[in-house]
Amino acid sequence: MHRLAAHQLLPRLRDRQLRARDLLEQALGRIGRLEPTLHAFLHLQADQARAQADRIDAELDAGRDPGPLAGLPVALKDNLCLQGMPTTCGSRILEPFVPPYDATVVRRLQAAGAIVVGKTNLDEFAMGSSTENSAFGPTRNPWDPGRVPGGSSGGSAVAVAAGMVPLALGSDTGGSIRQPAAFCGVCGLKPTYGRVSRHGLVAFASSLDQVGPLARDVRDCALLLGVLAGHDPLDSTCEDRPVPDYPALLERGVEGLRLGIPRAFLQGLEPEMATSFEEATEALVGCGARLVDVDLPHLEYALPAYYILAPAEASSNLARFDGVRYGLRVSGPDVAAMMRRTRAAGFGAEVKRRIVLGTYTLSAGYHEAYYSRAQKVRSVVSRDFQEALARVDLLVLPTTPIPAFPLGEKTADPLDMYLSDVYTVGVNLAGLPGLSVPMAPVRGLPAGLQVIGRAWDEGRLLACGQALQSVRPYHLAQPQAALFDGGMA
Ligand code: GLN
Repeated sequence: MHRLAAHQLLPRLRDRQLRARDLLEQALGRIGRLEPTLHAFLHLQADQARAQADRIDAELDAGRDPGPLAGLPVALKDNLCLQGMPTTCGSRILEPFVPPYDATVVRRLQAAGAIVVGKTNLDEFAMGSSTENSAFGPTRNPWDPGRVPGGSSGGSAVAVAAGMVPLALGSDTGGSIRQPAAFCGVCGLKPTYGRVSRHGLVAFASSLDQVGPLARDVRDCALLLGVLAGHDPLDSTCEDRPVPDYPALLERGVEGLRLGIPRAFLQGLEPEMATSFEEATEALVGCGARLVDVDLPHLEYALPAYYILAPAEASSNLARFDGVRYGLRVSGPDVAAMMRRTRAAGFGAEVKRRIVLGTYTLSAGYHEAYYSRAQKVRSVVSRDFQEALARVDLLVLPTTPIPAFPLGEKTADPLDMYLSDVYTVGVNLAGLPGLSVPMAPVRGLPAGLQVIGRAWDEGRLLACGQALQSVRPYHLAQPQAALFDGGMA
């Protein structure tokens, strides 16, 4: 069952060829076998999941409809709150924290009949591009366990890629859904800012964060987005707009669509990635799309602007972890010392780096030179996107400049790590939707085509992804069986 997509499992569950409980046991068995190698999960809740699966089976047996995801095992990135289970954000400072409420996306999943099996590993507070910044050890890429899975939603991407669960949730502030999806050979969608509720997502950079799906194929992304999207009175930035029937839009194809390629921005792309990208865009031409060169003259400033703005917001958001309200407390002779010791012991090196940078760029005297200027760059980058997307229907570019890199290769050089996000952060600055779909492998490793569109145009992105996938089914490739102890069950 681990090879099947959610949309293939659902009819089997509905016509009772497959029981939710059996599917869950297979998922748990596979997790048990692969976890020692891959470490995708931080917490599991096998017993609660079994009870839920039995409830779903009883409903289905009785001929009732328990929802559009009924009986499907799902995994949550561990920065999403699920009542009664720890939410660590991959950080020691939240290690003892158990949230008293569910994130809105979690409530929506449960109302749709999905079964949460556990929480997945991530870079601490979602800051990173490799999942190596987790306080609980790195996750490994199932295509080559010597390589990173990408990040920060590395655990969720691996859980799907390795066939542990058909669906998972990630969050994307600067690429954290799309980049790990590309590195692991799965599909990932970062929705338009405001499409999906952030209530119960632990904030990293509130003006950039979005929750979104990681799945085996584009149809599953559409299915899951349909469940996640929609207005939430608990998040004032979540807009009240109708939610399209995304799966119904998938077969619209790309006939007659103009796809913009920012050629200047892609100069210097390594030859094999360039070849894979050309091959994917030519395949879309074969489906009836037209390629148009577009200019996004300020896109090269997106990365530096992002690495000012995201740490600035993070320094403010992370001020609440003070040893008083949540998680870890290291005692001291007075309150200030307690806070200092708690934060010194609780946060890892990358999180501290961002708090220091963010505090600096927001401080009196430097605010104008850094934070305000980066905000101006953000406006200019957004305008570039808007102008380009007035001339073309979608933009396409690789999701990442290189495929998955070896563990440890970039940990000593934060700037080198930040460059992993060069093609993804602009989308977050502009609040636009972005989809990553597998394209031809590069040096035997998965690679992703990124499709970017106008705000609220997720349906068109998904139709483009579906078109590529139907003529270039790279999403069906599986990680090497030989890598897994005991083989693939
Ligand atoms: N890699 C980027 C960063 O480190 C993006 C992370 C994310 O999207 N959460 O900030």
